[in-house]
Amino acid sequence: MDTIRANLQAVRQRIANAARACGRNPAEVGLVAVSKTFGADAVAAAHAYGQLAFGENHVQEAVEKITALTDLNLEWHFIGPIQSNKTRAIAENFPWAHSIDRGKIAERLAAARPAVLAPLQVCLQINIGGESAKSGIAPREALGLARTVAALPRLKLRGLMAIPPASADYAQQRRYFAQLRQLKDELVAAGIALDTLSMGMSADLEAAIAEGATLVRVGTAIFGERKGSEK
Ligand SMILES: *Cc1c(COP(=O)(O)O)cnc(C)c1O
Repeated sequence: MDTIRANLQAVRQRIANAARACGRNPAEVGLVAVSKTFGADAVAAAHAYGQLAFGENHVQEAVEKITALTDLNLEWHFIGPIQSNKTRAIAENFPWAHSIDRGKIAERLAAARPAVLAPLQVCLQINIGGESAKSGIAPREALGLARTVAALPRLKLRGLMAIPPASADYAQQRRYFAQLRQLKDELVAAGIALDTLSMGMSADLEAAIAEGATLVRVGTAIFGERKGSEK
C-alpha cells in the first residue's frame, strides 16, 4: 500500500507541474482515482493518503465497494458505459456520472434519482476522434443532447467527458483535448451552462490539463497495471 501512497504523490506532482506550466492553479484540477478492478482495500489506502474521489466503470463492482466503504464519505464517479438496466443503481449510489450518451439514459437517471439526494452531476461523453469502437456521441450531436439533459429534473449538467484515441505524441494528445475544450466553449456560447472538462488519464493528463481539464481520471498511475483484459 506504500506504492499507492508514492504513486498518488507522483500523480499529484504531475498535476501541479502541468497546471503551473500553463499558468493554471493546480487546485482547479480535480483528481478522480480510477479504482476499477482494485478492491476496497486499495480504495481505503488511497483515502488514507487524502484521496476522496474515485471512479468506477462497472456498477455491481462499484456498489460492493461503495457499500463496504460508506463510513469514509467518498465521492464516487461512474465513468463506464451506462446500460438501461443499470440506471437505477447509478442514480441511487453515485453523485457523478461522466458517460451520458443518450437522452433515454438521461431520462431514466433523472426518474430514478432519489429526491433526498442532491441532483446527479453528469457529463456528456463525446467520441473525440470518431472511433467506431468507442462510446460517446459525435460532437455535432452534443448541443441537442445537452439541451435535453439540461431540461431534466434531478440532473445537473456539469460538462463534457472524452477518452480520445491513444497517442504517444504530446502535440496530437493536445489536439484531441483541444477539440473537447472547443466543443464546450461552443455549447457555453449557445447558452448551456458547463464548468467541467473530464479528460486526461495516466498517459496523457499533462496534455489534458494544458487544454483545460478540470477533472483527470487516473487509474494505472495510482493503483498499478490492471490484470486481464480490463482496460
Ligand atoms: C480505466 C479508465 C480510466 C483510467 O485509465 P488509466 O489509463 O488507467 O489511467 C479513465 N477513464 C475511464 C473512462 C476509464 O475507463
